[in-house]
Amino acid sequence: MLLEALPTPFLVVDERRLSLNLDRMQARARTQAVALRPHTKTHKSVALAREQAERGATGITVAKPSEAEVFVRAGFGDVTIAYTLASESHFAKVAELIPQAKIRFCVDSVPGARRASAFFSACGMEAEVLLEVDSGQHRCGVLPADALAVAREVASLPGLHLVGALTHEGHSYHGPREGESREEALRRAMTDGREALLSVATTLGEAGWAHPATFILSQGSTPSMRVFENRTERGFRITEVRPGNYVFHDLSQVQLGTCTLEDCALTVLTTVVGVYKGQGGTARVVLDAGKKTLSSDLCPGHPGYGLALYNPRTMRPLPHTVVSRLSEEHAVLDVRGHATLAVGDRLRLVPNHACVVMATQTQYALLSPTDEVRIERIDARDGVR
Ligand code: PLP
Repeated sequence: MLLEALPTPFLVVDERRLSLNLDRMQARARTQAVALRPHTKTHKSVALAREQAERGATGITVAKPSEAEVFVRAGFGDVTIAYTLASESHFAKVAELIPQAKIRFCVDSVPGARRASAFFSACGMEAEVLLEVDSGQHRCGVLPADALAVAREVASLPGLHLVGALTHEGHSYHGPREGESREEALRRAMTDGREALLSVATTLGEAGWAHPATFILSQGSTPSMRVFENRTERGFRITEVRPGNYVFHDLSQVQLGTCTLEDCALTVLTTVVGVYKGQGGTARVVLDAGKKTLSSDLCPGHPGYGLALYNPRTMRPLPHTVVSRLSEEHAVLDVRGHATLAVGDRLRLVPNHACVVMATQTQYALLSPTDEVRIERIDARDGVR
């Protein structure tokens, strides 16, 4: 099948760019002597997780038990749910999966750990848990200074086995502070994540609850991985990294300095459904992809809801255009000067945030270097539980 045969809007993944992104991240992990446990919430695809495994990825990461279930059913035997679970239905799904695969999830508080402990001990099971640490994102996670108290409680509870610590240094998405370069900002977030984990590990090590040979230290975000350097502290090292977005990259990563536009593997294929006169010598071009495909996510430092491409092969942007507005099924492209686009033309857009865009669809087209297209399923998209 060729691209021309696809209905629109449709997600297109460039196989060559995807493959380069997968190779590069695997090589980076290898150089830093750290396992790569990719976060599959970005692609939610069994086929792509297999590509990652074939290149050397050690297990996978997911965001919820329903995603874990899809991958376990497909044969993945080592799955970390990088999320602090708190509901009984989530515990029940984990309990169902434990006999089939190595499953871990996060705890970050005494009340949360007690809930998990009550559930798993009542089932006569022991669940492996990771202590989630807040290294600067300020979403979930225990602060490093409080880690010992929570770990002490977790270690004393039946039904739980504390096997490591995990952080998502998601403040790598906040960009540079005043006077800081983009590279310095990435390095700061990476260092925050690494040092928070090393400090927790050494504290727990002194207390006798963590041993360098077995204690998992897991950090990760795509921006911070660009500058990741491992380090040893009293025998402890970062043992695994969990980037997800890197498989496709997107405009946010370009703005942060994580990658270039040429690295962006995911585009949204659209059709021009209307061309109108805009205000003050502008044209208004309307495309058939709205919030339900592109998402409403903005991208710091870039105007609009994605970037229209003049040439998707070279990734040259369409000049003088901004995707200025979205409604559910429409995107409005403001064109300065004369619009060369006509109704029926097809246009590809680089999205602001690839992970959310993938979650809006049930399938994508994999575009080969010879311009052939294969339709692939987005397997773990149900997201019901
Ligand atoms: N780990 C956790 C807990 C996350 O929430 C995320 C992303 O949201 C990741 C890893 C992967 O980060 P990225 O999407 O920057 O690759």
